[in-house]
Amino acid sequence: MLTMFNNRKDFQNAECDTAILPVGALEQHGSHLPYGTDTIIAGELAERLALTLDAYLLPPISIASSIEHRADKGTVYLKADTLALVIRDIAESLLYSGFKRLLLINGHGGNWILKPTIRQLNRDFTDRSDEMEVILIHTSVAQGRQHEVMEHTKLDIHGGEKETSHILHLCPEHVKDYAPQSAPTNVPQDFMDYFDVTELTEDGYWGYPEAASAEKGEKMMDLMVECSLGYLQQIEREKERIRKLKN
Ligand SMILES: [Zn+2]
Repeated sequence: MLTMFNNRKDFQNAECDTAILPVGALEQHGSHLPYGTDTIIAGELAERLALTLDAYLLPPISIASSIEHRADKGTVYLKADTLALVIRDIAESLLYSGFKRLLLINGHGGNWILKPTIRQLNRDFTDRSDEMEVILIHTSVAQGRQHEVMEHTKLDIHGGEKETSHILHLCPEHVKDYAPQSAPTNVPQDFMDYFDVTELTEDGYWGYPEAASAEKGEKMMDLMVECSLGYLQQIEREKERIRKLKN
């Protein structure tokens, strides 16, 4: 695995052509979790994948699209269009310096712009015959199997059972007591298109932190690694199938 701590010789000698970029957020997560929660979770998944794939682990983008949390002091965000341009520049510079694959590990639902960005980028690379692909993996990659670990699989969106479990597992010293809310937030998730999260919730979290545990966090991370690797293998199998059809 390569990281920002490696030197020029290390990079020259390495055969690695995959780079992995965690994309997080810097935004309020209720009274109990740190602002960097999404960056911490995406960073852990990215590191686990970089170790397994012997890839180049890039330092995280820890300020991204958190406009829906902007009312809270300390939340800092990039506009979605800015984030798209940042990703485009990173992908292009990796291509220029000899990489062929970029995995974006997204830890924050508000970074929705990543999806149309990579869909376009991959076509742009193909049209220019550039050997580069950009793959997007969200930390909800194991959503379909979340019920194997978590009690709540619906409306556990932000600072709830899942995210609190991850932080209890990864850095418990940063978890404080949660502030009980009088009722769960029961509106569609896309209401963040219209309202700030702190208008929709009492303490800025949306979900069930009371059900969290470090054990659940550890199991969930293992599941996310497994599902991410499965997703990558599925893409490779599909490429192989299409290659055979064309020959
Ligand atoms: Zn989060």
